[in-house]
Amino acid sequence: MSPGPPGTVRLCHLYPDEMNIYADRGNIAVLRRRLEWRGLSLEVRSAGLGEPVTPGLHDLYYLGGGQDRDQALVAADLVRTKGAAIVSAVADGAALLAVCGGYQLAGRGYMGVDGSAMPGIGLLDAETVAGPTRLIGDVLITATLDGEPHEVAGFENHAGRTRLGPGATPFGRVIAGFGNDGASGTEGVVHLRAIGTYLHGPLLPRNPWVADTVLRWALAHRTGDDVPLEPLDDSLERAAHAVSAGRARGDREEPLIGRRA
Ligand code: GLN
Repeated sequence: MSPGPPGTVRLCHLYPDEMNIYADRGNIAVLRRRLEWRGLSLEVRSAGLGEPVTPGLHDLYYLGGGQDRDQALVAADLVRTKGAAIVSAVADGAALLAVCGGYQLAGRGYMGVDGSAMPGIGLLDAETVAGPTRLIGDVLITATLDGEPHEVAGFENHAGRTRLGPGATPFGRVIAGFGNDGASGTEGVVHLRAIGTYLHGPLLPRNPWVADTVLRWALAHRTGDDVPLEPLDDSLERAAHAVSAGRARGDREEPLIGRRA
């Protein structure tokens, strides 16, 4: 990957062929467009099975969701060929967004529905074990990044129950839905500029604040300057967020067809 101009965020998409359920590519499309709308750009390199990662070459890592069998395919490879490099890159200020199955593997590991143990890279202080039921539905949380709280809405579908280590900082507090385990009231985890979360569906189109925070972090890694991003017209994104948040709260939805303008 080229050093590129400083207005280019260098993204490493981890296992795009295996870890891609629930529109993970949509999250990357959002990152690209939000940069382009500001005259900046995104360079995407993928790193699949057997491909090593070199710390320092990427500003942002993305690891999407997967079914247990996809996770079983990538878990050992992730630890062996990429784990140490990703942990060191995040320690040096790179950003990471890991969703659902990716969140579990960015943590200490996941014991799947069939009892098989899948190792994680231990970047996030979170340990996951599959439970007897799936936790499925719309989810709404109050998430805090850089000390700033925001409502974040998404969809979750996981068997895993995630327990955070005692010093870990959750990504958010559950307002409606299950979050990490359906009991603790926590959702996800944040460590330095790395976020692990169960929210997908995908996450970023209806939560532009999360997208911009991750982009700001990545640009700070790229340029050494942590500067606010130019605001965008997010009316469509806010409307999508409101629909999603309403569904999670259990509001009755107005049918889109037949509604008066
Ligand atoms: N297979 C994992 C679980 O069921 C992750 C699911 C996902 O990524 N949606 O918990």
